[in-house]
Amino acid sequence: MLILHCPHCGAEAAETDLTPGGQAHLRREGPGASDEAFEAYLFQRDNPKGVHFERWRHAYGCGKWFIAARATDTMEVFGTYPAQTSAPPRELLDRIAERRPDWRGRGEA
Ligand SMILES: [Zn+2]
Repeated sequence: MLILHCPHCGAEAAETDLTPGGQAHLRREGPGASDEAFEAYLFQRDNPKGVHFERWRHAYGCGKWFIAARATDTMEVFGTYPAQTSAPPRELLDRIAERRPDWRGRGEA
């Protein structure tokens, strides 16, 4: 079972206490965007075998949104941080790079 640390209330929340919100750090397209860019924003998501940044809501806890960085292939959790953060914290990216030297990540802080 997936267990994530809620950065808001400090609880160790089980997967059953959480609601998934999909891929984190999507770039919202504005009214001047091309149809292709807007379609990609609406429908295209990463589905990596490895490190992924996901939005989660502590639905049966404090109710707040946060982002979790985890490995989809091993379920290893690298860390969590509030959803109001526009990019992953540098210390989290360093932790991922230490554990996954081959990872070429996104979202440079
Ligand atoms: Zn919480």
